[in-house]
Amino acid sequence: MRGCRAHQTPRVTPMPSPLTALIIEDENEIAELVKFHLSRSGIEAVIARTGRRGLELARHAPPDIMVLDLMLPDLDGLEVCRLMRAEAATRQVPIVMLTAKGSESDIVAGIELGADDYVTKPFSPRVLMARLKNAMRHRSDSAPDSNRGPLARLGGRLTIDHERHRVTCLGQLIDLTITEYEMLVTLAKRPGFVRTRDQIISSVHGPLTVLSQRTIDVHITAIRKKLGELGAAIETVRGVGYRFHDGD
Ligand code: CA
Repeated sequence: MRGCRAHQTPRVTPMPSPLTALIIEDENEIAELVKFHLSRSGIEAVIARTGRRGLELARHAPPDIMVLDLMLPDLDGLEVCRLMRAEAATRQVPIVMLTAKGSESDIVAGIELGADDYVTKPFSPRVLMARLKNAMRHRSDSAPDSNRGPLARLGGRLTIDHERHRVTCLGQLIDLTITEYEMLVTLAKRPGFVRTRDQIISSVHGPLTVLSQRTIDVHITAIRKKLGELGAAIETVRGVGYRFHDGD
């Protein structure tokens, strides 16, 4: 192309633009509270009171993070989530759902529709912000390249070498079955994020591995045992699935 010359005009480094958030929540008090905590972290937030309005705003200017209430007056949050993931413009936006306590089936449905995480109401602002930051960080490094090279977790105490299919725990090589290995990779790849049983099954299921809902818990128990003191990193999220905790 004509623009590709040896000497180009030096580029002016633009000021980094602030991160943006879209809050879809019809309860004013909650929406304002979330906005307040986001702004304290330097994130500019816009509030939409309905699912339709939220979608419209997201399509027009995809935010860096979306906080999505599930109980909305028009389109419910699950539908918003589904539509966000179905469209190219909004597919990559990290979504953290706000849910009521005891709504495990909604949480499972939302995660399977592609929401990244959830926080149950009433939430602590500290937990909410930690979840939002985690979701933003992991969306940005979920590029295919990050699947290469060994995965180091828990401050390097656990390493997973994809090329050799080897896992070391506190410097010791540990012996996992193919299914256990795949399950551990599925969870450790996205630390801090809950994976539902169906998600674990679909990412593990392959020509060499067969996994059913019923046997997942048995495999998890076996993995924890083999990881010894690091086994506690695999957390059971009651009624939802499992989550890998990469320290705090
Ligand atoms: Ca609501």
